[in-house]
Amino acid sequence: MGRRAYAIVPTLDGETIGVLLVQAEATPRSRAQCSWCRDTRLPNEVVFYGAKLAGPAGRRGSTVGTLICRDFQCSANVRNDPPLPYAGYDAAAARQDRKDELVLRASSFVERVARQ
Ligand SMILES: [Zn+2]
Repeated sequence: MGRRAYAIVPTLDGETIGVLLVQAEATPRSRAQCSWCRDTRLPNEVVFYGAKLAGPAGRRGSTVGTLICRDFQCSANVRNDPPLPYAGYDAAAARQDRKDELVLRASSFVERVARQ
């Protein structure tokens, strides 16, 4: 049970989808980037999570996987501003973009799992 996690994610059309994720036993050989938050600073461990597809495909054993922060630090990562790249950089707008993109990537993944 220690390798299982549930992601409950709001979709863009206002639904909420929950998926069971199972962490792969093998960990990425090098420091990996999370597919959800894409934090380039690699602040935490990232692991491969797989989810069984819904419907007939899942009953046949089909799964889909992605690299995600081990303890789902994605939400905190997108809110943690990097150093300003230049004077006048709009940190608040960049943070909002990262938050929007995280929602988009996570919802795309759970919709892919649920809508087979
Ligand atoms: Zn992440």
